Amino acid sequence: MDFSLTDEQQHLRRTVREFAEGEIAPHVMAWDEDSTFPSEIIPKLAEMGFLGVIFPEKYGGAGMGYLEYAIIIEELSRVDGSIGIIVAAHNSLCTNHIFKFGNEAQRQEYVTPLAQGELLGCWSLTEPEAGSDAGGTRTVAARQGACWVINGAKTFTTNGHHADVCVAMAVTDAAKKHHGISAFIIEKDAPGFRPGKKENKLGLRASDTSEVVFTDCRVPAENLLGAEGEGFVNSLQILDGGRISIAALGLGMAQGAYESAVRYAKQRKQFGKPIAEFQAIQFKLADMATQIEAARLLTYRAAWLADRAIAAGEAGGDAARLTRESSMAKLYAGEVAVRVANEAVQIHGGYGFTKDYPAEKFYRDVKLCTIGEGTSEIQRLVIARQLLGK
Ligand SMILES: Cc1cc2nc3c(=O)[nH]c(=O)nc-3n(C[C@H](O)[C@H](O)[C@H](O)COP(=O)(O)OP(=O)(O)OC[C@H]3O[C@@H](n4cnc5c(N)ncnc54)[C@H](O)[C@@H]3O)c2cc1C
Repeated sequence: MDFSLTDEQQHLRRTVREFAEGEIAPHVMAWDEDSTFPSEIIPKLAEMGFLGVIFPEKYGGAGMGYLEYAIIIEELSRVDGSIGIIVAAHNSLCTNHIFKFGNEAQRQEYVTPLAQGELLGCWSLTEPEAGSDAGGTRTVAARQGACWVINGAKTFTTNGHHADVCVAMAVTDAAKKHHGISAFIIEKDAPGFRPGKKENKLGLRASDTSEVVFTDCRVPAENLLGAEGEGFVNSLQILDGGRISIAALGLGMAQGAYESAVRYAKQRKQFGKPIAEFQAIQFKLADMATQIEAARLLTYRAAWLADRAIAAGEAGGDAARLTRESSMAKLYAGEVAVRVANEAVQIHGGYGFTKDYPAEKFYRDVKLCTIGEGTSEIQRLVIARQLLGK
């Protein structure tokens, strides 16, 4: 068993870190304060290849694997989780759904410009009445001649207002329940499509989380994505990969919070010495670092399994699901991020409660990791189902 990253992977980490510290860090607090979507950074992310990480070069992607993807999300999120989630929703949800289940024409038409960052993507599964129970989707799509007509609304769509392409799930045959929900590709100027309410959020405020609304929205018949009725089942597979990115998002934010706590503990003096010399603070830092390493191992293992599954699939073998491993990584890394960010604020004392230090923002941002792409409770249900063979 080899735990070391290759030279290329280490170089990639340094490159992303340099980019994040140079291009993102100076703006983080202003974007957060004003809840500004960082439009100016999108072309730079595209130039770096971060908007097409996991897609083959043939489709305009960077041709990298999930391990590299996890490193990129981790390093971006170490500086700003908002950028991490924007990149994650674009790559592993929207673009990956089209790449994995789209036909060749759809891959050419959408994956290539999405992977090159000419277009930004979003992915809409959640609805006001269908969150954890996403199979309870109420948005409907009916075939009318050469079109599908979609009616309904989705909530909490990352990139909802800024995306050029939306992949959304809608019921096409209610009687077939989970096998009666289909996926559709909707372009932002499709008649009857509009982004709705933008959420005013606790954290990740520079990312856009919005409602998307379909009112007699017409899309060409060929915009059905994957087999009719299989959109929900396919979504579960997309979430297997997506959860790796939320694990990496949590991991990166935990690392950022931890580093800010170490810096502060060395510099802040009380009772005549740096607080880092008090054992109570040292034990906190030791626990934080240990939990982060454990989260990193689970996240990288899930990413490694995803790469193995892709390689097996390409070789014509069985592309095994990694539901259990990605859920474990997401559950653990998400909860570690919340614990670590909490301790980072504690180590900063009263200053951790202010916007003068990054701990306060990490504390708000990390909470998404126990909620998005399946709450911690749902991850435990998913893992238990896998363990018990249900
Ligand atoms: C910032 C942000 C970005 C998001 N981005 C996207 C996106 O891009 N696309 C998208 O489709 N969705 C997105 N989501 C939605 C997210 O995936 C859902 O919020 C999440 O799945 C939970 O659904 P809910 O909010 O309706 O909570 P609910 O399902 O109503 O859950 C409420 C509480 O009940 C618990 N609960 C529910 N069912 C059970 C059960 N069976 N057993 C035990 N406990 C249970 C939950 O764990 C939770 O604690 C995003 C959400 C946020 C906050």
